[in-house]
Amino acid sequence: MRAALSAAGAALLQAVLEEQDDGYCGPRTGCGCGGQASYAGSRPKTITTVLGPVTLARAWYHCAACKSGLAPRDRQLGLLPGGALSPGLAEMTALAGAETSFARAAGLLAGLAGITLSPKTIERSAEAAGAAARAATAAGASAIRERRIVPLPPPAPVPDMMYVEVDGTGVPVRPSETAGRTGKGEDGKAGTREVKLGRLFTVSGLDGDGKPVMDQGSSTYCFSFDGKDALAGLVQAEYLRRGGGHHRQVIALGDGAAWIWSMAESLYPHATHIVDIYHAREHLSDLAAHLAFITPDPPAWLAARSEELDAGNVQAIIGAARQYPLAATKAAELDTKLGYFERNAHRMRYADFRKLGMFTGSGAIEGGIKAVIVQRAKQSGMHWTVDGAADIIALRCQQASGRWDELWPARATQTADLRPAV
Ligand SMILES: [Zn+2]
Repeated sequence: MRAALSAAGAALLQAVLEEQDDGYCGPRTGCGCGGQASYAGSRPKTITTVLGPVTLARAWYHCAACKSGLAPRDRQLGLLPGGALSPGLAEMTALAGAETSFARAAGLLAGLAGITLSPKTIERSAEAAGAAARAATAAGASAIRERRIVPLPPPAPVPDMMYVEVDGTGVPVRPSETAGRTGKGEDGKAGTREVKLGRLFTVSGLDGDGKPVMDQGSSTYCFSFDGKDALAGLVQAEYLRRGGGHHRQVIALGDGAAWIWSMAESLYPHATHIVDIYHAREHLSDLAAHLAFITPDPPAWLAARSEELDAGNVQAIIGAARQYPLAATKAAELDTKLGYFERNAHRMRYADFRKLGMFTGSGAIEGGIKAVIVQRAKQSGMHWTVDGAADIIALRCQQASGRWDELWPARATQTADLRPAV
């Protein structure tokens, strides 16, 4: 029945398309290069739709300046340049390709929709949609940063707190993508490139135990393979887009890397900084191990310091560690290890933070890294190009941010417009 209905639908769609004109718009039309393209006859094209293949009659224009051709009808119907899939099918491939490997996505489309496409076609189409999403995000971000777009304030009631969390992870890439790069600044492992992810979300209230509850659906994401400054630009735009300045309390939560704090200081200087308590505990264990040769009862020493850390009493930890006379390398290493606590003491006032109803762990960004990046981009046997990975991660960010529909403007048009049907 489904196959028969699809075939009937394709025939109906074909008939409707034949009722329309072929996009002819006079002897000349503007080309994307800024030049003028001249009418060069008719060039029909067969595209694959959700219902099956249909053939479009298209007026064809050729531009002498850039030596390329264009069909105004493609744009009218929302077809991507060079694309052979209808907008409806392009969205389906993007949905499936963002979710799982291109080979499995091909299986899903065949199994669920009876549409046969090669994994390569799905890869190309999904990545083209992702590339369009990246371009739109970048354009939107610069428009917001340059104040060409001024976002509306968040709708009332404005949630009490906004969190900004960032973290990074390595994505496995082809050897050509790491050539000429040192492992430094990436994640040390060969064959990966670091992607940084930002997650913004709000908290309106506490649960019965006085613990903060993330507002459902309040998370939005941004990401970059191009380092901390590129990410900072996107975080800034996202913060402004969401009206970060309207929240009573902004919180920057991170693993302790210095760039996170300098980004926070320049973008939202009034924010409270919090070092993820789990990272702080790891540093504490490391400190205890460093002193284990001299402390009388190392496990008890660590337990006592852990209590001090939970209480946010970093001075007590530093005092306890400085009690022992160390020399030479041991002393220098101790200084380094204590430096982390000294620099971040004001970001480790955990008892105060808990009292104020704030998160002290960076579980939200770690969960985001896992859901948005790891589950799709870090499966065994995957070797991405950076662009390919960025395209797919862009789709996943769009989805995780609840902004998927913005990628498909065709859906928003009138029913009289054919694009949604095609
Ligand atoms: Zn041109």
